Amino acid sequence: MGGIMRGVLLRGPQRMSLEELPRPVPRSDQVLVRVRYSACCATDFDLIDGTMPDQAKYPIILGHEWSGQVVEAPPEHAALVGKNIVADNLVTCGICPACVGGRPNLCRRMDELGFSLNGSHAEYLVTLARSVRVLPSGLSPKAAALAEPVGVALYGTRRARVGLGDRVVVLGAGPIGLFTMQVCRAAGAAEVWQADLRPERLELAQRLGATGLLDLSKGSLAEALAEAKIEPDVIMECSGNPKAFAQAIKMVRPGGRVGVLGYYGDELAEIRPSDIMMRDLEVLGSVCPTGAWDAALALIADGRVNAEVLITHTFPLERFAEAYEIARHGTGGAVKVMLEIGGTD
Ligand SMILES: [Zn+2]
Ligand SMILES: [Zn+2]
Repeated sequence: MGGIMRGVLLRGPQRMSLEELPRPVPRSDQVLVRVRYSACCATDFDLIDGTMPDQAKYPIILGHEWSGQVVEAPPEHAALVGKNIVADNLVTCGICPACVGGRPNLCRRMDELGFSLNGSHAEYLVTLARSVRVLPSGLSPKAAALAEPVGVALYGTRRARVGLGDRVVVLGAGPIGLFTMQVCRAAGAAEVWQADLRPERLELAQRLGATGLLDLSKGSLAEALAEAKIEPDVIMECSGNPKAFAQAIKMVRPGGRVGVLGYYGDELAEIRPSDIMMRDLEVLGSVCPTGAWDAALALIADGRVNAEVLITHTFPLERFAEAYEIARHGTGGAVKVMLEIGGTD
């Protein structure tokens, strides 16, 4: 098709602007997508601030949580044209041991939309036709734009083997923490406690189905757990605070699991490794919505995960700076801030 489009280009740390850019031209294995919705994510701040140097490839169009409509597809995928979709952001080699072993998130030759390949804060993007997922009928493209973080929560929950009867504590009530809480409930956990410092986030967690709340503005996690008289089987660390990670190691029950979904940049945590050894703990990292896209869409579509309620603010593309400002500071109770870019039903 060729032509010009508008996109939010990050030329380097702190150098982000709306620009007129060439519209991408799909290769024979790619689709051209008209972006409908694209969310601001806390990870974007690491790219904007330059604190994710290993993953970032500047200049880059930001955005990795999105939905769109296919406008051009290769002949063997012609049925995709006109469909509302999401797509796996990972572009992997497909032949290395990690890829073949079902862990493409560990491919050493991996690229990712919004990090090292142009992402979704633009009118158009190109992505691999084989990565595309057509939205289940009835699922709104706005809610579907959050399939990526729901998939992150789902993969992390699977890694930590959360299941029937588990007593789980989720640290942090940001988007990933709130999705993780909902996914743990869907996985059959008997109790899912949400911990945070912010009363309004705890209130939201309760509305979304948390079975208990731990208010960390009143005291430490140890104190909150003592007061609630619980010893968690699993702690899901979603706050990205290294101190919370250290607390999780201390407070999970002997033989318990700690799921690590937060990103800590280069920050260090002070832990006593003997706590892991003497207490038979498992610490399980997880990155990307690995193998979780279809289930994430299904969870949003059938309402077991409420994604739309987290979208507190929506802006057109040209107001991206305001959107990021509000997202960064949580202004006006902001949880997820969405850019509404284009497309129609
Ligand atoms: Zn994200
Ligand atoms: Zn690979």
